Amino acid sequence: MLYADIVVDISHEKLDKIFQYAIPKDMEEHIHPGKRVIIPFGKGNRNIKGYVVDITDTPSFDPQRIKAIIKADDAQVPIDSKMISLAYMIKKRYGGTINDALKTVIPVKKAVRNNTTKYIRLNADDTTLKELLEQYGKDKRMSSRCILLNALAENEVMSEEFIKNELGVSESVIKSLEKTDVIAVESKIRYRNPIKVNAQERGSIILNDDQRRIADEIISDIDDNKMNNYLIHGVTGSGKTEVYMEIINHVLQKGKQVIMLIPEISLTYQTVKRFYAKFGDRVSIMNSRLSAGERYDQYLRAKNKDIDVMIGPRSALFTPFDNLGLIVIDEEHEGSYKSEMPPRYDARQVACMLAKMSGCSVILGSASPSVEAFYAVQQGRLILKKLAQRAKGASLPQVYIEDLREELKKGNKSIFSERLDGLIKDRLSKGEQIMLFINRRGYSGFVSCRACGHIIKCPHCDVSMTYHTPDGEQYGTYKEGARLVCHYCGYEMKATSTCPKCSSKFISIFGTGTQKVEMMAARKYPGARILRMDKDTTKGKDGHAKILSAFAAGDADILIGTQMIVKGHDFPNVTLVGILAADLSLGANDFSASETTFELLLQAAGRAGRAQRPGEVVIQTYKPDHYSVINAAKMDYEAFYNREISARKLFGYPPVVGLLSVLVMGKNEADTGKFANLLAQTARQCEAADENLLILGPSEATISKINDYYRKVIYIKHADERILIHVRDCMQQLHLGSKDYNDYIVHYDILT
Ligand code: ADP
Ligand code: ZN
Ligand code: ZN
Repeated sequence: MLYADIVVDISHEKLDKIFQYAIPKDMEEHIHPGKRVIIPFGKGNRNIKGYVVDITDTPSFDPQRIKAIIKADDAQVPIDSKMISLAYMIKKRYGGTINDALKTVIPVKKAVRNNTTKYIRLNADDTTLKELLEQYGKDKRMSSRCILLNALAENEVMSEEFIKNELGVSESVIKSLEKTDVIAVESKIRYRNPIKVNAQERGSIILNDDQRRIADEIISDIDDNKMNNYLIHGVTGSGKTEVYMEIINHVLQKGKQVIMLIPEISLTYQTVKRFYAKFGDRVSIMNSRLSAGERYDQYLRAKNKDIDVMIGPRSALFTPFDNLGLIVIDEEHEGSYKSEMPPRYDARQVACMLAKMSGCSVILGSASPSVEAFYAVQQGRLILKKLAQRAKGASLPQVYIEDLREELKKGNKSIFSERLDGLIKDRLSKGEQIMLFINRRGYSGFVSCRACGHIIKCPHCDVSMTYHTPDGEQYGTYKEGARLVCHYCGYEMKATSTCPKCSSKFISIFGTGTQKVEMMAARKYPGARILRMDKDTTKGKDGHAKILSAFAAGDADILIGTQMIVKGHDFPNVTLVGILAADLSLGANDFSASETTFELLLQAAGRAGRAQRPGEVVIQTYKPDHYSVINAAKMDYEAFYNREISARKLFGYPPVVGLLSVLVMGKNEADTGKFANLLAQTARQCEAADENLLILGPSEATISKINDYYRKVIYIKHADERILIHVRDCMQQLHLGSKDYNDYIVHYDILT
């Protein structure tokens, strides 16, 4: 008799166990690890689904009492046992339930739709096309048509999916163009290469010496079956993407597949087009805008060997390629590679696990590598490859640091330093473009009383309320009809014109948000065309893309925005970047605040002067002596890194020392405190704890209450990750072991 170890398909932490079921003889052939099965469960023998994770011939308890599998669930795409093992590894490292881990690596099945794909083909010659573009160009309502025709002018055939998702062209626009016979809609089950490579565009790129050398070195390691992992540290615009594509091409020629992770925000038409142009429809993409069904289709396409390259955010890591040959992670330093949802996995680490299982390499790339990655280089876990020059020969920008305290002394109360003001005027007169960047952490419109200092806070959260007028303004003086909104829980209340504490009328709204910058810029530079990009202006489906393409098309002189504008976009006409308050993120209560700041400044500076014209960057700051600011201005990553890593060593922070942070949340403040104490005590008494285990707290979290949940934190440090994992498991066992603790939510995060 054979027995199957099965995890049940119910995401409840209490059920996070493995159950043994007997495999009926006639099913033996069909049951294997990764198979989904229907089993009788619990006292009532409810039929539920489970995943087989292992098969043994030894029963783990009285065989008489072991129930049998009812049937195999064949509708499910068979799951690679590799993926199941990966789920187990994720659970082990990041905690949480095996179900959450399985759901992460295996997408939820949606009704499999018709597997045909629609393609749009251009049906017009160049002259007709030109006439149409001219005609539609005159009419704003026809802009979607222009987008579609322009894209088809470059690639005669494109998939409808790409056109809808990436270009944002609607079904009705496609239909109406189809009626005029300018385009034809074709359905194909499999279309080998619908995207024509534009030879002119591609032919022009020949790797420069540095790019060639790095590509060749990595390719030769791959050919020698050396499974190294690499970090490509290349300044922005140094041509990292071209290097990835060269290596990817080589891996594909060996008949293997490639996963390329890029941050969702840089998953733009521009980026994807480069890959489509080189690899045709063997490439697919994933992004959060795909529906669950569409995502599942990509999963199937990968399984069916319809595609060889998957580009997407961290979830693309779980593309079921059975002959994986390479994983590339671009912009490796990006925070979005860490999952915020359980299991809180880090895609960079999981990529290394998956690569090891698959016998392939990982390439990380960044202009400002994470401290972890560079530390891994120093420890020999990653091989460093450097690209020091910009590919197109453009020089790095000239960077100025402006001390805002000095500006104030000079009597300049505006948000623009003298230098920045002068340079803005210069660019406006030359018709060159400007980006003004404001750190998001300064994004606030909090309301306070100038008489008593009272700050209006959310009654449910330990954060200040944000002021919103009906027309969306968030600054200035009190307006009738304005509301206060909590950005954490969504709570709203009417804004009052008097202080709720002292009844004074001196209520004022503070804010240094993007709107305020926009208003000040509009006042100071009348006639300048200004675009603003932030959470409010990018709400629609393609909000981002619309603003960026308008700016790229030269529809504005100044682009004002938060973090969003500094990530990976290439605007050749931008020759000035202003960073309005560089140190707003330095005050953050977080051991990586200096790293975040440095990285933002470097990325922002990298936006200037990407093409032939040289760029200038103005960093305005209250902390002109801070090493994040100084080294970002010098664009000296290694100097920054050396300072930062010695600080981490000194204070015992990751990546030098492992850190387990435990966030405990509960509805009653005192009880939550008690439970947090109990958890800390459990950690102390865990058998893995040795004298090197350092337990700090519990103490109040930076934001001590969100959504009526009180928040306590415990920090636990140890040099050995395995000990932290063990300690976490002890705490998790206590938490999940008794009904008494059902009301608490605990998040664990191990940083190494
Ligand atoms: P990164 O990924 O490092 O920011 P990219 O690969 O996007 O850099 O390259 C920046 C720009 O330089 C792109 O427009 C790219 O097409 C161009 N480029 C890169 N390598 C070369 C090359 N060898 N010759 C000409 N242009 C190049
Ligand atoms: Zn007051
Ligand atoms: Zn709130």
